[in-house]
Amino acid sequence: MRIGVYGGSFNPPHRGHVLAAAELIQKLGLDKLLIVPAADPPHKSLALGSPGPLDRLALCRTAFAGVKGAEICDIEVRREGKSYTVDTLAELCRVYPGDKLFLVMGTDMFLSFSDWREPERISEMAALAVVHRSEDEELWNSVLVEADRLRRALDAEIVTVDNDCVEISSTQVRRMLAFGAPVGLEPGSLRLIREKGWYLTGNLKGLSYEQLQEVSLSLHDEKRRPHVVGTAETARTLAEQWGEDPDTARRAGILHDITKALNKKEQLHICEKYAMMPTQFQIDNPKLLHAVTGAIIAGEIFGESEAIVSAIRWHTTGRAYMSVLEKILYIADYMEPHRDFPGVEELRDLVWDDLDAAVWRGLDQSVCYLRRLGRLVDPDSLEAWHYYRKLTERSQLL
Ligand code: FE
Ligand code: FE
Repeated sequence: MRIGVYGGSFNPPHRGHVLAAAELIQKLGLDKLLIVPAADPPHKSLALGSPGPLDRLALCRTAFAGVKGAEICDIEVRREGKSYTVDTLAELCRVYPGDKLFLVMGTDMFLSFSDWREPERISEMAALAVVHRSEDEELWNSVLVEADRLRRALDAEIVTVDNDCVEISSTQVRRMLAFGAPVGLEPGSLRLIREKGWYLTGNLKGLSYEQLQEVSLSLHDEKRRPHVVGTAETARTLAEQWGEDPDTARRAGILHDITKALNKKEQLHICEKYAMMPTQFQIDNPKLLHAVTGAIIAGEIFGESEAIVSAIRWHTTGRAYMSVLEKILYIADYMEPHRDFPGVEELRDLVWDDLDAAVWRGLDQSVCYLRRLGRLVDPDSLEAWHYYRKLTERSQLL
């Protein structure tokens, strides 16, 4: 028999995995494709809300049920201690003596293959089947070069599989699940996930601040986390100064960029799901969409107050007649400790004396910046710019 071995954390298994499995079976002419979910990695915890290994096994059974020839294999999940591919293959060689094994790997895994434990032994036990995971041609060229090198160095058998790319990742799938707008899942898997409340699909309303922060940070890209915490803390301090509730301001801060990691398509999917029609300007300038979708998610998923929802809605563009909380979030986002641009120090001084003047300064800098780049300014920002300019001028006269 020709047997494929397809490992991964499958957290959760999604349509990209399922399509790849079907294609692998067909293109490699396999009699069987073993889906081998990894045990929990020992030193790294899986994303918040992830089910345990046995539950991921159950999810895989559901997700791959429609793929003829796919078979779920529990050897890594059942093995004690750290799982190495070389051990998995050795075990499979014992179970399937005389059969031909193909180890399936993505491009990035393949490029680091030399650093794995016992690559020679792996290549003696199985052919390596490298699949395209993106349409990046440069990356694919380095795969071809590395394949040549390994063929010579290890006498490895390497086949490259040019599969149709489904540009979706488990991280994206998890985020959209938490936001109540799932994408890329088989209906059976989705039902199971929701039934069990995995991947933050349970009730997220009324969380304590600590819980809210944990959930929020888990949904952000790593590089944005310091900014989000910085904004929350700055908003809290500004609230103390300007007579707002510090906890409310902090909650608005920790949620303000909650949908920032989503791409344009995912942003629009959330708008559609929650019956919100974005303006043409927002569609043309997708960076503005995260304020719209962030506000939706703060209200619908986290059950936050109208005041917080509104502060998040206007945190990017500002608007005329902003509430105190809206102004606080707008400025906190602008001046939190990780921001570094000319004039930020002045803004940090000004904000303790005159909140409106600080908002005006922020708006003016944004508008000037966009104009310098020759870009159109959002109508809400423009209106806010006129409004706060007048307000600041008037207070300077008094
Ligand atoms: Fe933002
Ligand atoms: Fe921000």
